[in-house]
Amino acid sequence: MTEKNWQSMLNKALTSPDDLQGFSLSEKEKAYFSMKKDHDNLTFMVNPYYASLAEDKWDDPVRRQFIPTVDEYTTKKYELSDPLGEDRYTPVPRLIHRYRDRVLLLVTDSCAMYCRHCFRRSFTGHKAGVISYGELENVAAYLSDHREVNEILLSGGDPLTCSDKKVREILTVIRSVRPDIVIRLATRIPVVLPMRISDSLVNILSENSPIWLVTQFNHSNEITEQAEAAVDKLIGKGIPLLNQSVLLKGINDSVSALENLFQALVRLRIKPYYLFQGDLAAGTSHFRVSIERGREIMSRLRLRISGLALPVYAVDMPGGGGKIPLTENFAMSEDEENYYFRNIEGKPYSYPREK
Ligand code: SF4
Repeated sequence: MTEKNWQSMLNKALTSPDDLQGFSLSEKEKAYFSMKKDHDNLTFMVNPYYASLAEDKWDDPVRRQFIPTVDEYTTKKYELSDPLGEDRYTPVPRLIHRYRDRVLLLVTDSCAMYCRHCFRRSFTGHKAGVISYGELENVAAYLSDHREVNEILLSGGDPLTCSDKKVREILTVIRSVRPDIVIRLATRIPVVLPMRISDSLVNILSENSPIWLVTQFNHSNEITEQAEAAVDKLIGKGIPLLNQSVLLKGINDSVSALENLFQALVRLRIKPYYLFQGDLAAGTSHFRVSIERGREIMSRLRLRISGLALPVYAVDMPGGGGKIPLTENFAMSEDEENYYFRNIEGKPYSYPREK
């Protein structure tokens, strides 16, 4: 597919309830659209490809990710517009330097559809536009001065909604000052608009290696022939893929849904990397699952699937506290001779303390 074709797919995006003719809207979905004018909320937009993956059932796991409900207008007192506390770590516009050895760059605020659970919803789809050449030069100067930075995460929005020309420009400017830096590209494109993964795009990415692509499949219904073809193209050019799912109520919060998803990803050669507890973004409480339930699902998954297929269940702490793994606690106690653990089946074992 040429650039013109995938862009025309975006031009045909569904942006109003009138465009959702193939769906019988539930009362909660109708209520969202009738109240929308009073709220500055995350834009409603989905491209025809991703919409075609959903069945006309209000609880379809794909549909729930793109059709909003009135629940988005409920804000809990502990929810935040900047749930990860990133704003205070912004040394130059669009660049977040929270950890010593890595930075995050907000390349664009546009996506190929807007996920109703998006935690960066106060930036996403809010007309910040694509990073300019001048802004990129400021980022390059910062990277040149900060040699302790080993990794840059390109995010947004979705960086792969940019044209090939812009993607090339971004990578070239970064590489011109830091040929050594590892680039991590966070994108839902293989999931929501896989035809965007063209030969020309894949060539641009592979010319700027090392690039790791981090995507977000949340349900096995998102794995289609087109998605598989996109993943094959990327892997064929030596671009490794990781997946970060979000644990989402009514979408993937069951052992069977996650088992199917993680095993399908491993078959595609995508490593399930993280399963994230929902961030405290305003208007997303209806998607959040309790940590207790998340841990229960993870311990049952641990008995059923291999370590290769099992991601790390983690929470990004509000206010800039960083990621904390929510692994079950296997350590029981210790004394002068041994450490005592329970294994995944709950049986007790010990390991000697080296002197
Ligand atoms: S693709 Fe990413 S940034 Fe865009 S709406 Fe979805 S989660 Fe948010």
